[in-house]
Amino acid sequence: MNQKSATPKDASAIILLNQDESKVLWAQRNPKISFLGGFHAFPGGKTDETDAQISVKNCADKDLEKFIVSAVREVFEEAGVLLVRNGEKLTKGQRASLHDDLISGRSNFAEILADWNLWIDAEDFFYTGHWTTPKFSPVRFKTRFFIAQCPPKQTPYAAISEMQNVEFITPKEALKRWANSEVLIAPPVLISLQELAKNESADLQKSIKTLLEKSQKCDGTINFIELNPRIICFPLKTETLPPATHTNCFIVGRKEFIVIDAASKDESELAKLFELVDSFIERGFRCKEIIVSHLHKDHFGGETFLQNHLHERFGLEIPVSAHKITAESLQGKAAFQKFIEADEIINLQDEAGASFEIKALHTPGHARGHLCFYDAERGFLLSSDNVVGAGTVLIAPPEGDMTDYLNSLERMKNLPNLRFLCGSHGAAIFDARGKIEEYIAHRLKREKQILKAIEENAKTAEEITQIVYQGLKPELLPLAVKSVEAHLEKLKSENSS
Ligand SMILES: [Zn+2]
Repeated sequence: MNQKSATPKDASAIILLNQDESKVLWAQRNPKISFLGGFHAFPGGKTDETDAQISVKNCADKDLEKFIVSAVREVFEEAGVLLVRNGEKLTKGQRASLHDDLISGRSNFAEILADWNLWIDAEDFFYTGHWTTPKFSPVRFKTRFFIAQCPPKQTPYAAISEMQNVEFITPKEALKRWANSEVLIAPPVLISLQELAKNESADLQKSIKTLLEKSQKCDGTINFIELNPRIICFPLKTETLPPATHTNCFIVGRKEFIVIDAASKDESELAKLFELVDSFIERGFRCKEIIVSHLHKDHFGGETFLQNHLHERFGLEIPVSAHKITAESLQGKAAFQKFIEADEIINLQDEAGASFEIKALHTPGHARGHLCFYDAERGFLLSSDNVVGAGTVLIAPPEGDMTDYLNSLERMKNLPNLRFLCGSHGAAIFDARGKIEEYIAHRLKREKQILKAIEENAKTAEEITQIVYQGLKPELLPLAVKSVEAHLEKLKSENSS
């Protein structure tokens, strides 16, 4: 089964600078939003059809015109800042009332601008390029970024419930919070902050030029995501279960690093990963091992290619490792030189050479020998297939075991200092504990429904599935039957104990 990646939707964002241009506006997306909930971001959003109805003065680039309008409308909707000419005559109260008109739908943005003789001038905006959400995401945007300055006497605020913690922050402080794993940020925000922070001489035009060049060089393509300076998520296209299309490979550490789930067998996918790994080796960084998290086919396959590649190119002998059960189950399909023990500590180094630890947690249930990886210091859990950001987790006997799975989830939930997680499919998750609790609650609710179906005389797993999974697409029914079987086994073992 090979699912196509989602088509990106047009979007715009504003990198809003304060009056002296030392700080940039960011805000936290409401953690309840399904797309990048809890992430810190610049104000922005999807292009609206009506944005093309508004003309922008002094706009030489007609392709960009509607995206400037989208950006202006979005920053007004989300942060209450009106980036228009002739807007200084409006009082704070009038702006708030116009905001209310826009959000409630009483007026559209074109009407507001026309009624108040306000206009957008392209000279107030500097285009810094576009970036597209990586292919692994079920929702994708092609977002155009613009730098603008906040007008005097306007103070941004959380103008809609989708945004919170709106603040001006120096790029350096923002990056510090990200490095300490206090916030999650998406790649384009990170790239912009890094460029602005680098610019010691406060030469804004130079930053704009560099950002634009970076975006143009790769046509806005993002191959990997730096979750923090210790962990890189590198989605690779694999034959995984829809709606997921990719498996996240993780590179943890820098001066000493490991590669987890180099899962793709596709040459062009692997070439992109090799490019990054090679650049690390060329900088003198040491790859300690290549790990397979568990035995499913969308998690292994590329590790031997990577191992061979590093041998041929650099003469390195890097062991491939996994939990003993995984290694034994994959005999003949993959070769392992090392076993990972439950709770084994892997010592790594960051870019500055500072040591840190990753703990390999044996968390069976989805598969025997399944490993998760935990950086307790940063509160960051790599949850492999136990909790994922895209798709659902299949517990299919005989490999899957519901009792083990729920015990594993319980253990993951109680990890000390747990903050964020990233699974093998989809984006990172801001509220790790909340997400794991949601998973546990979902399974227990399903179990209750199954018990009720049994009370109502459903006999076989198939009959129970028909009752419990009403409305499910027919092609997904066999998987649902498997899941019901897993619940039945759990209930049976509880009755006999
Ligand atoms: Zn799996």
